[in-house]
Amino acid sequence: MKSKGFFLIGIALLLFSCKTAYLDSTISLEKKDIEKQTDSTAFVNLKNYSSDFVFEMKYATSDNFLKESVYPCAECFLQAKTVKHLLEANKQFLALGYRIKIYDCYRPKSIQKKMWKIVPDANYVANPKKGSIHNRGGAVDITLVDSLGVELDMGTKFDFFGEEASHNYQNFPENILKNRMFLKEIMLKNNFKSFDSEWWHYNLAGSNKDKIYNLKWNCH
Ligand SMILES: [Zn+2]
Repeated sequence: MKSKGFFLIGIALLLFSCKTAYLDSTISLEKKDIEKQTDSTAFVNLKNYSSDFVFEMKYATSDNFLKESVYPCAECFLQAKTVKHLLEANKQFLALGYRIKIYDCYRPKSIQKKMWKIVPDANYVANPKKGSIHNRGGAVDITLVDSLGVELDMGTKFDFFGEEASHNYQNFPENILKNRMFLKEIMLKNNFKSFDSEWWHYNLAGSNKDKIYNLKWNCH
């Protein structure tokens, strides 16, 4: 009887500590098995699932339109369901001699506000009132690199805010249009949606309905 009481207290403490961790809004860097991850909306770190991506987390450097590093460290957090589809897409690129290079993943809402102040244009930065899919862990900013790690020519740099960054802009040489189409076709096949004004941005289908998070992540 006594041990049963301790057991119940233990369960209560465990539930309480889980709740506290959630309220702290700190993303765990722990490795989780994606196949066993029953909560597809849980945030996970992409590098724990594959070493086949190239990472250049632009907002953890000063090489971005904010001209300062706004992330505490260069990590790519996403919802588990986004990671699952991204892994599948990368497998298909790898089979053809290419791989995905990541520029941005989950983005806290506080950073979204900072970006909106600098570029208040919904063609390029989501209004924080509405929230970006990046704030939901369902979006990635990516390009492709070849087997030597060289980026394919996509016509503009990442975060180029002009019509040349659009999928609809056709005034490029054939190889650039082909590169963009190559990226787009495989991403679309893997349940992602493209965004007209940015060739680098892909949303997991349906993730616009997910919650917006302002999570802080652990950097150690
Ligand atoms: Zn994006």
